[in-house]
Amino acid sequence: MSNSSARQILLDVFGYAAFRGGQQAIVEHVVGGGDALVLMPTGGGKSLCYQLPALLRPGVGIVVSPLIALMQNQVEALNQLGVQAEFLNSSLDASAAREVSSRLLRGELKLLYVAPERLLMEGFLSLLQRLQESHGLALFAIDEAHCVSQWGHDFRPEYRGLTVLHQRFPEVPRIALTATADAPTRGEIVERLALETAQQFVASFDRPNIRYRVALKANARQQLQAFLEAEHANDAGIVYCLSRKKVEETAAWLQERGWDALPYHAGLDAATRNNNQRRFLREEGVVMVATVAFGMGIDKPNVRFVAHLDLPKSMEGYYQETGRAGRDGLPANAWMTYGLGDVVSMRQMLDSGDAPEERKRVERQKLDALLGFCESTACRHQTILRYFGEAHPGDCGQCDNCLNPVDTWNATAAARMALSCVYRSGQRFGVGHLVDVLLGKNTPQTEKFQHQQLSTFGIGKELTQAQWGSVYRQLVAAGLLQVQMEAYGGLSLTEEARPVLRGEREVWLRRDAAAVKRTSSRAERGARAREAFAGANEDPLWQVLKAKRMELAREQGVPPYVIFHDSTLLEILNQRPASLTELGRISGIGQAKLARYGDAFLKVVEEAANGGRR
Ligand code: ADP
Ligand code: ZN
Repeated sequence: MSNSSARQILLDVFGYAAFRGGQQAIVEHVVGGGDALVLMPTGGGKSLCYQLPALLRPGVGIVVSPLIALMQNQVEALNQLGVQAEFLNSSLDASAAREVSSRLLRGELKLLYVAPERLLMEGFLSLLQRLQESHGLALFAIDEAHCVSQWGHDFRPEYRGLTVLHQRFPEVPRIALTATADAPTRGEIVERLALETAQQFVASFDRPNIRYRVALKANARQQLQAFLEAEHANDAGIVYCLSRKKVEETAAWLQERGWDALPYHAGLDAATRNNNQRRFLREEGVVMVATVAFGMGIDKPNVRFVAHLDLPKSMEGYYQETGRAGRDGLPANAWMTYGLGDVVSMRQMLDSGDAPEERKRVERQKLDALLGFCESTACRHQTILRYFGEAHPGDCGQCDNCLNPVDTWNATAAARMALSCVYRSGQRFGVGHLVDVLLGKNTPQTEKFQHQQLSTFGIGKELTQAQWGSVYRQLVAAGLLQVQMEAYGGLSLTEEARPVLRGEREVWLRRDAAAVKRTSSRAERGARAREAFAGANEDPLWQVLKAKRMELAREQGVPPYVIFHDSTLLEILNQRPASLTELGRISGIGQAKLARYGDAFLKVVEEAANGGRR
């Protein structure tokens, strides 16, 4: 192992011919003993960044992971690749845990996944000490590193204790990984995990294989059904709803119409939840109807769609939830309906909660950013990435706005009024007040700040309050205004607003959302038979390959994608390999899988060829 290169292991063990994105640089850095902070979107290929160095360096790699399901999944996948890996968490009984420890001490394992609370136990730390003295510690990987952030939804207090690794084992390289990109979270990770000197690797957060679509709500369930029928008749996917009640109703509604739909929310008993999650992971074509309680730790690579029947709470939420689609890099859909009713009920929910006013204000702004995204006429990929501070050229040719340009109006004059109202009032007020000024309303606020004196007071009476709200949201979404979270959500101008104020640039906005016609789903339907699977679904061999994969998976009690990913199966379908050598060239088939499954799949391909000749 010592003299084999990273690339050789990539090919032999993982079956991949090339590194993706930043993987190579990260692997080299960690193999060389450096600390790293890796920010990569879901599906970017983070696991390889620590698994491969663990194989190349002497000793065992220790991976801290927050969820049992995640650990099981990774260990199953590694064992399939012929890599000796185990996990230690509360799902093991005492004797199984002891067995893992003794395998460790015998030097039999290359990777160990461990829950943070277990890692922090003195007994485990002294086990690590003994390991280091006997076989060595290859590295520490801290997966889902954003769990250290107190402000995130996945906060895990035990993550705060992980600095102990650095204190006790300063010479062992650490690699922290997350798909949560925003700057405050990143800063918190660096600080809380003492990674000040770690090299940061930031990948692009674009998910080019995801097609984003936002539809105005008419009859949401029927719209959903039409979408599923047209594009996802046999696919696994997730439908997100806001409330438990709606989850159950929607799941039942879909079941009545013949969909293999299951509910998931925090109110179901643990056994039902586990069983439904298990079916989603291990079977094909299950539609999970869920609240956001369902999500983290679901690393099923072939989730083909994520549908939102209700709005997520923020752009971060939207990005994270839709990001669960298409981890395997194959085409996937992110589909959402929204209506003004949702906006009103979300606002009410926010206002009636018992969070402190400051927090509510931030959440209202986050919701507004999401609405701005919904109403935006620009490329969805571009708008999402801009929100996360990344540039994208636009015109993806994939999203709804690029495919069906929307009905717009020349809003240059309105935009100038809106922007100059921001400017004249000192770039620190929120939308509500700004609209009051434009409409010329006398409120305690306008009096307190003497905003009746402003030249923009009452100049905007041609638009309604709702229309001004839409104008402001779209200006934020277009990057002409920015929301200052530190200043409690006040709006300020960006550089891009200048040419508009100087009359050098026109602004076109989506016609008032309520008036926009639904984009014709019928017109799109034909064009939407997405390339990769379109042919496959017609091909009898595809079904046979899938059946073989399911059979092998059932025998071992693992999910089918642990045997081969869809992308690997598709390549087999398209190339029809006739020998083990040919099969071994297919991406995702390393030596271990070739030895285990090669003959079985060759036989399936051969039988199909003979059947075809008859
Ligand atoms: P993440 O943890 O970043 O969401 P994963 O590590 O699960 O992503 O990887 C996503 C998918 O990409 C997996 O199916 C993985 O096998 C695949 N993958 C990772 N690296 C490569 C590569 N270099 N070439 C081909 N596929 C890869
Ligand atoms: Zn686009």
